[in-house]
Amino acid sequence: MRKLLFQSLFRRPFTEQAPSSDDAAVAELATALGRTARRRLGRSLSIREIDAGSCNGCELEIHALNNAYYDVERFGLRFVASPRHADVLMVTGPVTRNMREALERTWHATPDPKWVVAVGDCARDGGCFAGSYAVVGGVSAVIPVDLHISGCPPTPMAMLRGLLALLERADTAAVTS
Ligand code: SF4
Repeated sequence: MRKLLFQSLFRRPFTEQAPSSDDAAVAELATALGRTARRRLGRSLSIREIDAGSCNGCELEIHALNNAYYDVERFGLRFVASPRHADVLMVTGPVTRNMREALERTWHATPDPKWVVAVGDCARDGGCFAGSYAVVGGVSAVIPVDLHISGCPPTPMAMLRGLLALLERADTAAVTS
């Protein structure tokens, strides 16, 4: 015990070094996303997160978007409590049989225009849970998907990049139509 205490005084912490608090890349990406949302929608982008059966690893990364480091709300991106207020549904996990109906009903409750973003490898095709008796499959097996962000789990930066690409694509389509 004494040896352990002594070691802990000199051992480096196991936790990763926190990123610097003035990461310009986050600000640049989130600013571009907020600006594109205002151009496309005339207001902030509202996101509803749905866990369709994930291991919660993807949720931790999505929640990080709201932590003190990323704090995306300052750039005009909001997570909302109801699909009725949402523009984007971010869906994680393989879709489990128990969550299938809830996911369908959430999609129907979201007003048009709406986009569905499947977040994480499980959301593509069930990932490491594919083939389980409890799993229907990826998100596209239940509702239409506009964008897939791969990773297990994807990083918050990958999610910001994905959302920006989605809105830019929608913006270009609106201009040309
Ligand atoms: S992609 Fe990875 S982190 Fe996300 S739900 Fe699947 S296993 Fe979990």
